[in-house]
Amino acid sequence: MKIKLALGAAVCASALSAGQAAAADWDAPQQPFKVHGNTYYVGPGGVSAVLVTSPAGHVLIDGGTGKSPQQIVPHIRQLGFKVGDIKYILISHAHFDHVGGIAELQKLSGATVVASTLAAPVLKTGKPTADDPQYANLVDMPFAPVGTLHTVKDGEVLSVGPLKLTAHYSPGHTPGGTSWTWQSSENGKALNMVYADSVTAYGDDSFRYGGDPRWPGAKAGLEHTLAMLAGLQCDILISAHPDASGLMERQAKGSFVDTNACRAYAAKGQERLAAQLAEEAQRPAKK
Ligand SMILES: [Zn+2]
Repeated sequence: MKIKLALGAAVCASALSAGQAAAADWDAPQQPFKVHGNTYYVGPGGVSAVLVTSPAGHVLIDGGTGKSPQQIVPHIRQLGFKVGDIKYILISHAHFDHVGGIAELQKLSGATVVASTLAAPVLKTGKPTADDPQYANLVDMPFAPVGTLHTVKDGEVLSVGPLKLTAHYSPGHTPGGTSWTWQSSENGKALNMVYADSVTAYGDDSFRYGGDPRWPGAKAGLEHTLAMLAGLQCDILISAHPDASGLMERQAKGSFVDTNACRAYAAKGQERLAAQLAEEAQRPAKK
């Protein structure tokens, strides 16, 4: 149990130290809340799930762990929405702490799951692909595979009635990660919303961001993602783990708006990448 918790914490995408990450409880109880306009936080305390609503149907981003639907489903109902009105379930990256609950949420809603081309095989099998930097830690921890899947290209716009969400491929934490942007309006004020994928450079004991045949493009991919995130129009950032961008702290302060949040999030990812590369340089070469 202790080992499993430690491995599970390793997947955690926030830029916390290992000790802090191990202490994080992904399924900690959490009240749902409005972020802005038609955007609501419906996840548990440690892994984000976001509902974007419209009269023509809703979009859910991420489904948390296998246990998270026990909170996500009642949260959606508590806010006055129907799970059956979810048309699409989008994902950030295919690790079990973000997609472990998706198979169940898909069964309950009948929604189509939407993912990048590289995340699709992971979702269909419930198992990581060999190019995942954390492959060795994840291979024995499968999640429930999802059913109907729709793949999107980088930059593709997904529409449900008036909702338009744009996919931004975000390789780095995994090869197939995706961030999502959309606009939400309240009192005539339209804000640029960003759901940012995890940007933590973290691998199993053998993976090297500095150059690895399993995924030679890891470092370049992550750097591209960090530059992309830093350049987004970003009024409200929600990260795949809420603590990675201080979401609950912003809630406590009474405003989610921070136009510097995406740049700060990218800078933190850059620092973590530098630390990872330094650690790899200390590691003995493979025999
Ligand atoms: Zn995570």
